[in-house]
Amino acid sequence: MPEPIKILTIGPPDGSISSLVAKVGAINARHGPFAALFVLGDFFAPAHADVADAVRAEEEALLKGDITLPLPTYTLHPPSPLSTSLQTRILSAELRADGTRQLADQLFYLGKSGVCRIGGKDGQEGLNVAYVGGAWDAQRWAAESEQSVDELSTSHITRASVASLLAHPSFQAPVAASSSSAAPTTLAAARAAAAAAAAAASSSSAASAPPIDLLLTNVWASSITLFSPADALPDPTSRTWGTPALMPIYRLSRARYIFSLAPGPLPPSADDGVVGLSPAIRARGTFWERPPFRTEAGPEAASTSSRFISLARFANAEKARWFYALSLVPASSMDAAQRKAASVAPKNITPSPFAVTPAVKREGEALDSGANYRWAGEPTKGKRPRRDPGTGANSIGASGEERASGSSDRKHRGAAAPVAPSDCWFCLSNEQCAKHLVVSIGTECYVALPKGQLLDSGAEGNLVPGGGHVLIIPITHVPSPLSLSPTLAAPLLSEMSAWRSALRTTYATFGCVLVGWEICRSQGTRVGHMQAQALPVAASLAPKLEQWFRAKAEEEGYQFVPDEEVEERLKAGTDEQEQMARADYFRLDLPNKTLLVDLNDPSVRFSLQFPRQALAQLLDVPSRADWRVCARSEAVERAEKEAFASVFEDAAKKVVGDD
Ligand SMILES: [Zn+2]
Repeated sequence: MPEPIKILTIGPPDGSISSLVAKVGAINARHGPFAALFVLGDFFAPAHADVADAVRAEEEALLKGDITLPLPTYTLHPPSPLSTSLQTRILSAELRADGTRQLADQLFYLGKSGVCRIGGKDGQEGLNVAYVGGAWDAQRWAAESEQSVDELSTSHITRASVASLLAHPSFQAPVAASSSSAAPTTLAAARAAAAAAAAAASSSSAASAPPIDLLLTNVWASSITLFSPADALPDPTSRTWGTPALMPIYRLSRARYIFSLAPGPLPPSADDGVVGLSPAIRARGTFWERPPFRTEAGPEAASTSSRFISLARFANAEKARWFYALSLVPASSMDAAQRKAASVAPKNITPSPFAVTPAVKREGEALDSGANYRWAGEPTKGKRPRRDPGTGANSIGASGEERASGSSDRKHRGAAAPVAPSDCWFCLSNEQCAKHLVVSIGTECYVALPKGQLLDSGAEGNLVPGGGHVLIIPITHVPSPLSLSPTLAAPLLSEMSAWRSALRTTYATFGCVLVGWEICRSQGTRVGHMQAQALPVAASLAPKLEQWFRAKAEEEGYQFVPDEEVEERLKAGTDEQEQMARADYFRLDLPNKTLLVDLNDPSVRFSLQFPRQALAQLLDVPSRADWRVCARSEAVERAEKEAFASVFEDAAKKVVGDD
């Protein structure tokens, strides 16, 4: 029977070599012996760090062989730039059979990204370890192409390093359409292709695509916190941590264990996009063990679930946990009994935070390769141009509204492509997301002010502090709540409705009712990240609202769905196909009723500006129909956000569950 391999993983030592030798040596003596030590983050002190001469002297002693590490130690590419002498050392080191390069006695460099075999002995295979090194730098990611760069001299996660790991056989999607035939265009064809791919995958030898036992990264993948309740998160800001670039890596690795690091100390003038995290917490790092999440089925998956563990920084003063020991039989050498034991789903398993909806939508509809139906597909090919905020199609600034129709605009829309999470203005993990507008973050959604809100918070007669026009935005990159599977749609719909009631309560204390609207398009070029709008309107106008909107809709030729069908159509379904068939709609929430326009027929035209225009007319501020006219400076936006957040706080707590 194959024996388990004992390994130890630790947070960044930042050059504390002698302390590492002592502490790891002690752990090894007590709980070992371990076959391998994996080190996340910076093994050596970053070049920019102001460290004592003794630290540099220890590093030199280690590299010269005067200090010996207690056990074989493996480092992935650090988040800080490698010194030129280390680069030279790595370049001159031979590539070993296990895929590593030796830097000193017992010290091995893994690389920027890859898969290697570690810890095997006496003819037994080692653990299959995948890794992505480097730090997350959203600006450089956005600016570069997938062409290979000099990975050693770049300290950020590159598109090329992610793409090359995704091309590894162990990362292939479990069910992929055959590349030799054209993309299937019907559900039946897709099923046939999937069956063929599954058969091919199971007949291929396990050695060609060995399952991944461990995945190591220096930064979380965005959305890893999804399906973890807010009170189980390590920090209120943790939903904004991480990078979308690693989402396909986490999803497709189907690794049994994933080790990673929370945001750490920032080099001078660096920005990792995380707002409001104190330097003390950055210095400590964060230990967090997520409940295991379900991995996608596949013949070569190592297990049915992945466990994610975030380690704090090595030997931090607050004694947050910085090491984790494991004893694992490599998945590729498990016997039948071990495989069976590993395939039992843990009791506290959650859905995958990365896989959201199947690629196949409806009978007769083409498979969509865009990233909008899934958390992440293949990495973006080449450089994707930044969205022009002026088109307003994708920013918080846009409020989901487009420019007035005109021939040039129509041409522009025709050329627009669906927006992927890594380029999306509403994905919290993105650099482009205006986080200073975020009011509150729940489990499924967050609430943020739009740029250029319809109300003028400084106007005489303004009722709600800060104006009060807000967006309820799913944390997940989805075009419609109904484009999710029913089990995921239900909690999202329920939390969106909870946010709406919380807003109603707050608006009511200022003599206002809520008018809400959302336009969901899950097909065509307008597919993106949905938002539900909420606007406070003076209660005195409430009796006029329904008649006003019905008249405006009639002018445009829009048909409302009969009232008695509305509730049923907006519910999560029991049948996935049936539910997705009603994913596209315009929803208008009035004080006592919800009106609905069916947009599931792609030929139905609907102006994204309709609701805001109708409201601007009703409120007698027609010029404010265009959000760009209403855009304010960031200072004003912050002040509006603060003003609204302070009156919304109590109601929001009831939704978030901090009460
Ligand atoms: Zn998004």
